[in-house]
Amino acid sequence: MPLYGAIEAGGTKWVCAVGSGPEYLHETVRIPTTTPAETLGLALAFFRRYPELAALGIGSFGPVDLHRGSPTYGWITTTPKPGWANTEVAGVFARELDVPVGFDTDVNAAALGEYRWGAAQDVNTFVYITVGTGIGGGVMVGGRLLHGLLHPEIGHMLIPHDRTADPYTGACPFHGDCLEGLAAGPALLGRWGQRGETLPAEHAAWVLEARYLALACANLALIISPERIILGGGVMQPHMLPLVRAELKQALRGYIRMPQFDEVAHYIVSPGLGDRAGLLGALALAEVTG
Ligand code: ZN
Repeated sequence: MPLYGAIEAGGTKWVCAVGSGPEYLHETVRIPTTTPAETLGLALAFFRRYPELAALGIGSFGPVDLHRGSPTYGWITTTPKPGWANTEVAGVFARELDVPVGFDTDVNAAALGEYRWGAAQDVNTFVYITVGTGIGGGVMVGGRLLHGLLHPEIGHMLIPHDRTADPYTGACPFHGDCLEGLAAGPALLGRWGQRGETLPAEHAAWVLEARYLALACANLALIISPERIILGGGVMQPHMLPLVRAELKQALRGYIRMPQFDEVAHYIVSPGLGDRAGLLGALALAEVTG
């Protein structure tokens, strides 16, 4: 079996692995995201120990440039993360390791992982969303990851916000009350004064949280017509899925009439790969690149 490299390049840590599938991960290391020189240097040192690598896949925090032919293809571009704006990533690994490099957003990579080994193996148009410190989403349409003008920025979609029911103004530095501003971890803390992990399952926070996520899912269902929506991330605790499903039905008022959709338990699901979706997605990216 060919050996592939994978990098889940996050804003706080890079997880690097070599292997050929979920059951065949030979070695995994975690490297803190400090400076580009240090973090890329440590990642390169790790992969140099595997000269037999067939390809490398990188799922990166962003925004990133995904336009092949662009002078900054494979770069992290306008990130607010200090020191990381306009950082070349994919090209560095391609030159230094002399292997084909697949590069995409962290969430598009995770979507690919779910398609290859997880909860989306039986569909080819679906959305993967992670709800944590931020909200991100990857989209596959007809078996291809969606890029377009930039890449989907699902976390920043604008959704209805009833300021009488929820006067919280939102945490997004760009938009205030976009989806991420209303429903990511910092919004839970800002609105309720405690972190999501400490809010009991019966707290009113979760119905409101589910409503915002369901509104986002409704918009996605109407615009992209996905066959499934995968919801993961630290905020998506097990008690959340039934709430989101109920709120989604409420939001759409029976407008979408498809048998798959009536089986809403199969429409809104957890990641099949759990918190390994990002890393295994990067591995899947290597597999389709090599
Ligand atoms: Zn925003």
